[in-house]
Amino acid sequence: MPHKKPPHNSVKVLRKNALAQCGEAQRIRKTNRWKRMSENVRDRFPLCQWPDGCEELSTSVHHIEPIARRPELAYSESNLVPLCEHHHDWCNDQEAYGHATAWKFKDWIEKMEDRYNNYFGQDDEEESS
Ligand SMILES: [Zn+2]
Repeated sequence: MPHKKPPHNSVKVLRKNALAQCGEAQRIRKTNRWKRMSENVRDRFPLCQWPDGCEELSTSVHHIEPIARRPELAYSESNLVPLCEHHHDWCNDQEAYGHATAWKFKDWIEKMEDRYNNYFGQDDEEESS
């Protein structure tokens, strides 16, 4: 466990969930390999690639399948989408509540790579929410 105390009891569960996802993600985001990759993606796509349309600049690169769930996809280009701060926060919030957001980027994944079914189709349950 990290040495941090949880800030508030009211968010304890959420916080615990988020921390479990953050450890590996934080480690990866500090590597030079990740920094180069993130810059490269944002160079090619300077605008947020939110599927419903967004005209903000992309400020960060989102892992469509979270690192905590699919660490092998951490550096896979088709698993990365450049987003603005607002939409990246939205995704992270949803994931922290246990709501997967990968379905949102189905078209993007298909656009980036035609290998969608290789890793997304296998354990794809029809989303009911
Ligand atoms: Zn956006």
